[in-house]
Amino acid sequence: MKSPALALLACLAAAGSAPATEVPYFADNGYGNPVSSLQHPAGEYHEGVTYVAYQGPHEDPYVAAYVHATRRWIGPFQAGVSPMGKSPDQIDRAELDNHGKPALVVDREGYLHLVFGSHGGDPKHGRNPLGEFFMGTKGRMTHAVSARPRDISSWRVLDNIPPFGTYNQWVKLPNGDLYLFYRHGGHRSDWVYQKSVDDGRTFSPPLSVLKHKVSSLDPSVHDSWYAWFDNGRGDTITASYVYHPCANPKHTAHRQNTYFMQLDTRTGAWTNVQGRRLESPVTKESADQLTLIEATGTLRSTHGTCHIDEHGHPHAAFPVGQEVRYYRWDGSAWQAPAAVAAGAGRVNDGDFIIESPSRVRMILALATEAGSEIGWWNTADGGRTWKKGATLVASAERSFGLSALLRRAHPDALMLLASRHPADPHLYRQMLVVGERGPLTRPAAEAGHLGDRLERIKSLPPPNQDKAEAKRKKKAGLSDEDP
Ligand code: ZN
Repeated sequence: MKSPALALLACLAAAGSAPATEVPYFADNGYGNPVSSLQHPAGEYHEGVTYVAYQGPHEDPYVAAYVHATRRWIGPFQAGVSPMGKSPDQIDRAELDNHGKPALVVDREGYLHLVFGSHGGDPKHGRNPLGEFFMGTKGRMTHAVSARPRDISSWRVLDNIPPFGTYNQWVKLPNGDLYLFYRHGGHRSDWVYQKSVDDGRTFSPPLSVLKHKVSSLDPSVHDSWYAWFDNGRGDTITASYVYHPCANPKHTAHRQNTYFMQLDTRTGAWTNVQGRRLESPVTKESADQLTLIEATGTLRSTHGTCHIDEHGHPHAAFPVGQEVRYYRWDGSAWQAPAAVAAGAGRVNDGDFIIESPSRVRMILALATEAGSEIGWWNTADGGRTWKKGATLVASAERSFGLSALLRRAHPDALMLLASRHPADPHLYRQMLVVGERGPLTRPAAEAGHLGDRLERIKSLPPPNQDKAEAKRKKKAGLSDEDP
């Protein structure tokens, strides 16, 4: 079956130089790596509107909204200023940090909140009590809130969170309490959360979840983590994570293993998948002993996504080596991991929807010789085998970076994507929201938001390949953003 997304793109291609009335993107001012599955949610569906946030020009946060009833886009609007951005906008990707992209949440009153702007904070902001400045930390973690409920046009900063954070993530409980998770500094820092019971006006002090410390096995290695947090069943929060042996003096990008645990927010207790209580913050030793899903050894793992089925059992997907591996707790054990889309092409991170313990639908990015696509992969046998499903968007030339699933996503607006063309002489990206029916289109005349930016960067020197390569090597292991 030909998907509407492909039909749309084919139709746009056929239009050639004729003015296309609708384009598959809502904005053209994504910048660098505008979205990631790690800083999440990238958006939320709330009372008929899908709100999305991404990294725009100058690495500043931008917010747009889609009104489903009228099929109209609003924005994007700039929602704050990232201290990490350079002016004018750079055309050399090595000049970008890319860690300060926003995570968005809507509170009980309909105000929108963003956290953005930091890669572990800057030493000029003082001592970091829960972590270290290491590997180029910078910026200032910033909390912005919309001036009015459900209105993305005007924002103000609330100075009520520490400046030392990165990989900011929001979890909203069913009762509206907000949990802000992040790594409290550079690689060698605790992962923490702060709780707000008053719609983000105040937060409890940071509470450590995963502990950073010198490895008990090797004094030249520091225990470090990459973690992903989301709603579990009821009032629980899941943590799926990987271990980073942060090495001295020769740093490596290695990450390994996959882990799972959950927080009961009523008691504040973390438990493993069997329900055994964990001492927190969790150390490497207790993680290995009590929360390990799979020891991947020399195979590099990357943070994944995790959801809970109707029995309260976790399912998780992690990139491991060249695969995306799916894991499912069957009530007594972790089922043997299965490679989703094995042999189909190059895959990277994705997210998934559990329809029943045995039926799961996953959105994956897939690259083949024919091009790139974002599409469904489905299992009906509890994840043992996966079949390719419909394509949400595809292109022979353009590639796509993807967010995790938007929070409470409407079927027409599941995920935020950034799309780049390899021939573009700049770092601006087209921004798309895709759903079951493909991209949410917009009149071409409304989708251009670069203003005179292409003029302003014309005087910049071309990217220095040697410098970029040296910088890339130096930064290796710093993040998911740098391949
Ligand atoms: Zn490290």
